Amino acid sequence: MEPLISATNRVNTPERDSSSHKQNGKLVVVTGPSGVGKGTLLKILAERRPNRFVFSISATTRQPRTGEVHGKDYFFLSRQEFEQKRLEDAFLEWAEYAGNLYGTPRQAVEEWVKAGEVVLLEIELVGARKVARAFPDAQKIFIAPPSIAVLEQRIRDRGTDDAAAIAKRLERAQTEIAAAPEFDLTIVNDDLETAIAQLEQAIWQ
Ligand code: 5GP
Repeated sequence: MEPLISATNRVNTPERDSSSHKQNGKLVVVTGPSGVGKGTLLKILAERRPNRFVFSISATTRQPRTGEVHGKDYFFLSRQEFEQKRLEDAFLEWAEYAGNLYGTPRQAVEEWVKAGEVVLLEIELVGARKVARAFPDAQKIFIAPPSIAVLEQRIRDRGTDDAAAIAKRLERAQTEIAAAPEFDLTIVNDDLETAIAQLEQAIWQ
């Protein structure tokens, strides 16, 4: 695989950015249960806020879903490769989620933060807590579903998980939702436009 240093997707190039986004570099952690729509929100944010942030591409031992691309959506690693990286301290944080390992490549993220970028991490709760301890200044945003029933429907509609995986994800979702008060802000992803506006305001207010 490519070196993990390339694991941060520069959404944009600073040289082309006339609006100077460098005023406030920071780490932004976005957490929320699987299926809540974090990925969709961040994708739209990237389209609407060109040149304003970078997001980290994680490593995972999960199998790629249809359409997912190695090096773009995730770095898909075997358990052995992941363990090796972990032993090398290559992850800023890592966690197990629904039977798979996920980790944030350390080097790229640290470099971007140092360079004054707004760096977004889309990670689950255990990892978010680790980041919060290591980076007390990180902004922590929780994305919540309107209800568990809506979340379950969204996961089912995605059609990517079997019954056992859905059950694991829903069980984990309950724990994550209960931890929402640990975050600086909770955004309920009911109406997409409202949620995006709240996210934008929180990051760039
Ligand atoms: P999925 O398998 O649905 O892509 O991701 C499952 C969960 O893992 C999601 O909540 C996602 O935010 C989280 N996740 C993705 N990358 C990372 C990572 O690098 N670290 C941690 N701790 N969680 C991650």
